[in-house]
Amino acid sequence: MNAELELGLERRIGKRSAAVIEKHLGITTVGGLLNYFPRRYLSRGELTPISEVPLDEEVTLIARVVSSSTRAMRARRGTLTDVVITDDAGTLKVSFFNGFRAKAELLPGRRALFSGKVTRYAGSLSLTNPDFQLLDEDPDTPGMDPEKLAAMPIPIYPATAKLTSWSIQKVISTLLDTVDLELLDDPLPAEVSSREKFLPAARAYRLIHMPEVPRDWQRARDRFRYQEALVLQSALARRRAQLAAEEATARRPVAGGILTAFDRQLPFTLTAGQSAVGKTLAEELSQDSPMNRLLQGEVGSGKTIVALRAMLQVVDAGGQAALLAPTEVLAAQHFESIRRTLGPLSRDGLLGGSGPDAVQVTLLTGSMPTAARRQAMLDAASGTAGIVIGTHALLSDNVSFYDLGLIVVDEQHRFGVEQRDALRAKASKPPHLLVMTATPIPRTVAMTVFGDLETSVLDELPAGRAPISTHVVGLAENPGWAGRIWSRSREEIDAGHQVYVVCPKIGEDDDGDFSPGEAEPSAADLEGDGPARQLASVTAVVEHLQDEPALAGVSLAPLHGRQDPVLKSATMASFTANETKLLVSTTVIEVGVDVHNATLMVILDADRFGISQLHQLRGRVGRGGLPGTCLLVTTLEPGHPSRRRLDAVAATTDGFELSQEDLKLRREGDILGASQSGGRSTLKLLRVLEHESIIAKARQDAQRIVAADPGLTEHATLAEAIEEYLNPEKEAFLERG
Ligand code: ADP
Ligand code: MG
Repeated sequence: MNAELELGLERRIGKRSAAVIEKHLGITTVGGLLNYFPRRYLSRGELTPISEVPLDEEVTLIARVVSSSTRAMRARRGTLTDVVITDDAGTLKVSFFNGFRAKAELLPGRRALFSGKVTRYAGSLSLTNPDFQLLDEDPDTPGMDPEKLAAMPIPIYPATAKLTSWSIQKVISTLLDTVDLELLDDPLPAEVSSREKFLPAARAYRLIHMPEVPRDWQRARDRFRYQEALVLQSALARRRAQLAAEEATARRPVAGGILTAFDRQLPFTLTAGQSAVGKTLAEELSQDSPMNRLLQGEVGSGKTIVALRAMLQVVDAGGQAALLAPTEVLAAQHFESIRRTLGPLSRDGLLGGSGPDAVQVTLLTGSMPTAARRQAMLDAASGTAGIVIGTHALLSDNVSFYDLGLIVVDEQHRFGVEQRDALRAKASKPPHLLVMTATPIPRTVAMTVFGDLETSVLDELPAGRAPISTHVVGLAENPGWAGRIWSRSREEIDAGHQVYVVCPKIGEDDDGDFSPGEAEPSAADLEGDGPARQLASVTAVVEHLQDEPALAGVSLAPLHGRQDPVLKSATMASFTANETKLLVSTTVIEVGVDVHNATLMVILDADRFGISQLHQLRGRVGRGGLPGTCLLVTTLEPGHPSRRRLDAVAATTDGFELSQEDLKLRREGDILGASQSGGRSTLKLLRVLEHESIIAKARQDAQRIVAADPGLTEHATLAEAIEEYLNPEKEAFLERG
């Protein structure tokens, strides 16, 4: 037991420091702080090349002050201190709003560590209100040999505006002095450590926080990285083993059932991939151990039919199936399209229908009127409903099933392991599980995020799928194109087709239905001149388009997440029925919405969206055999880093290629968001794309360890680390208890 790691921080660093750490970092235990690793290391000897400083990112750099001047601001009260810093090759402007300390300390010739976010203002790079620390008066290293000092890496911790990397370092060095690291048990099995020549845990903790030479932190980091991979893979291996050992009800195909009738009435032939995956699912559903399968397939590859056929097999065998969608709009769409696809094989609750050879399909969402919802719940509980389609409302405690045999989760990226488990708990025996995702997933990501599932892939699109052509519309270089977008929309509508217009925001004063990846540059606001960029919002665009001559007489409607659900469904229904010709929406239409007649998608301020989001969005057009067009509209100048994403999306429709590109440009936290990773904590040192071989090796180790010792009784410290990973809140809980 590593009791020391669970000890409250105040016992080792005192009440005051512990309170500061808890307030700013949310860390309360010794283990929590020991495992708060530096994000990177700087070397005192060198200056960071200013010319390589990335735009729009948090950076920490060492530079020398060239000049400093302070003046009163024009547009508001207060002063502005402008400091120019250099690394000899380049210079950077640093601005401080009421920067009294900056004015006093950042004198020409002084060297300091700066950290903050780099923005571009009036054509040149600048840092605004960064955190800084003079280097010439380093408090921790009095009287140190200057040569040794120059070589010593400076750990840079993930800091907050209020708690600098510098202060964190000081607290951690106190902690390292007061904790007896030698007492810590090592979660890495001895044979792994000796095979890989890893540092022992105690030494690794010291060196990752207080390296003397770069090699120190590199060795420490390699060890902790592997540990992270092993803990994660062991958790997944254990879960896989547990799932495989469970007993499920076999749902064997029934000759002459609804599925047979359905296949007979299908208006198209299944693709080879659909048939192959269908066969796998049919076999696994026939087993008495639960299926746990991930189905990956491009947008439009026809996953829904595959899932529906699996559901029908279960219904034929007397069970129920639940389909879980990430949004109400999508649940309603699935409900409509599944009933349409089933035709006479689908039965309504009250209207009876075509006898016993039909399945009742029921929609259950949180926003349904009470009476309808109660009826739907009744039908689920009594077994009258064979297929229940819904949102996370299906997860609520008062929803129960008569005999839930199969759960299908659509568009997995919005659903986590916990939610899957909540739904599994609704069946008396573990149900079969099919998870579908449209975002292609590289192998290592699949190994980590979906490591507890087997994988199938649909890698071809159904025949007759028309290509989508994507164009970047740069309004900065071609302002005239703004009007052209709407006359182009008009042409589509006159040809009988429909148009989506997607905006990053709902109204003028909000952030829309998602939080954008990047914040806006703040330098412009600070100086009070130069307008901040106004992003397209659903309300403003609707207003504008109502007066747009090219669209005169066109029926258009807004759709966004903050609307009344009844209005939302009515709007979607009207668009599906081709009454509304042009839909102005937020990303609520991102996943799954299926309107075949829509041929043009205009994405305004497209640079505000991520690559996979754009790819998902454009998958909404070109679905009905009509060629689709997607216009990525941006006001950013050519060459702006955020335009790279747009160029990437315009250059290919290969989802796999795009997802690789996307993962490269994004931060790991987004990939392994808590809701997806199965654990609530995110990875610290492991990068799922970069560290493929580490992950693969750890996976092998984990499988071997779990196979030989399923209860991990011989690996108590590893088991403990897994618990910690799966449930970091335990930490706070024990602390208080
Ligand atoms: P996704 O994988 O994005 O969920 P869908 O299941 O929504 O894709 O399928 C997209 C469209 O393709 C649907 O309209 C569906 O009816 C149609 N479709 C599915 N399979 C085939 C097929 N084998 N041949 C022709 N069209 C198909
Ligand atoms: Mg789909």
